[in-house]
Amino acid sequence: MLKIEQNQSLQSLNTLALPANAEYFCHVHSIEELQEAIAYAREHKLAITVLGGGSNMVLAKNIAGLVIHIAIAGVSLSEGKADERLVDVGAGENWHQLVEHSLGQGWFGLENLALIPGLAGAAPIQNIGAYGVELKNVFASLQAVNLHSGEVLNMSESDCEFGYRDSIFKQQYKDQFAIVGLQLRLSGVANLQLGYPALKSAVENLDEITPQSVADTVCRIRRSKLPDPAVLPNAGSFFKNPLVSAEKVAQLRQKFPNLVSYSQVDGTEKLAAGWLIDQCGWKGHRQGNVGVHEQQALVLVNYGGTGSELLALAGDVADSIENRYGVRLEIEPRVYS
Ligand code: FAD
Ligand code: NAP
Repeated sequence: MLKIEQNQSLQSLNTLALPANAEYFCHVHSIEELQEAIAYAREHKLAITVLGGGSNMVLAKNIAGLVIHIAIAGVSLSEGKADERLVDVGAGENWHQLVEHSLGQGWFGLENLALIPGLAGAAPIQNIGAYGVELKNVFASLQAVNLHSGEVLNMSESDCEFGYRDSIFKQQYKDQFAIVGLQLRLSGVANLQLGYPALKSAVENLDEITPQSVADTVCRIRRSKLPDPAVLPNAGSFFKNPLVSAEKVAQLRQKFPNLVSYSQVDGTEKLAAGWLIDQCGWKGHRQGNVGVHEQQALVLVNYGGTGSELLALAGDVADSIENRYGVRLEIEPRVYS
């Protein structure tokens, strides 16, 4: 039975621990409960906001309307060809627990994506990625519910238009669907992706390179560099790495010979946003109750401030990068302001 609360605090439900309330709030454990919540919102003319683990959100105001927390559980194996392991995952499953569970079952492919916070249902929203692997590399399909009609839709990889930290759900379909389940195409045979420099050098010291030891190594590197949101609230990388033209990089490199950039298959160049921020002297900077992390300049942290304070700091950081490098940083998490 769907239970709708009023004026629910979201502070413990977002990893930046920003103070904000939901006007109306509910958990949904099934597609039917979600459809009931959508009908309630339609009847009461409430806007809908979908909430997963709250690890990629900046809540700079109270959320009007109905916030729906997706709590749809379940992980099961479907038919697959030969070594293929097609795994159906409920959108409410914790992503890292899914990675660990898959490794335990001998379903491989998620190793590099270990320890990413949040729920499985949010993974397609920005095509989560780390250490050279993106969700799209293991994605088969998803099931989503239209937030206006309640209709259920199946979408293939090409329907999702995955890009670099991007998908159709951040563009044309923004706020139009709730993802309720994913099907991942994993493998019964390890095919380790060790090309990412930091991972490659770390696994060289391992006695045995297995999917589990690679995942453990990813966790170890992440724990050594990234603040744990439970200890120091944050939303991971606050800015996307900007994609710019090769001409722009050549021009910048004349003035900044140490500029860090990575060539992309489409001929563009990816600048390391963390490096740009570090070069502008922001690492470890504290501004009131918010700041830039001491070890990782791409991560903004909250010492007890508000979303508005955090966005003001983000604006100052982006302005300084733009003044020096002529590149505007784009915020990666979803901003509610
Ligand atoms: P939320 O923050 O709850 O939601 C994010 C957005 O997705 C919102 O717009 C929300 O409305 C929408 N949404 C959520 N669930 C659904 C759904 N079921 N259907 C439709 N819309 C939905 N990201 C990476 O890509 N790579 C990383 O390596 C990485 N590392 C991180 C490390 C730290 C310490 C932190 C705090 C964050 C990191 N992130 C990383 C960002 C974040 O963890 C991911 O983007 C994650 O997928 C967000 O999941 P979530 O459930 O918390 O989403
Ligand atoms: P890092 O290894 O210090 O590298 C810094 C940046 O350089 C990364 O953003 C990465 O881009 C880029 N990079 C490094 N080597 C690359 C290569 N060979 N080819 C292309 N790009 C390369 O990064 P980190 O901060 O410790 O993070 C490690 C991984 O975890 C990265 O993949 C990062 O994206 C991911 N991560 C993401 C978040 C988030 O919230 N989105 C938070 C923490 C970590 P990419 O980011 O494109 O990989």
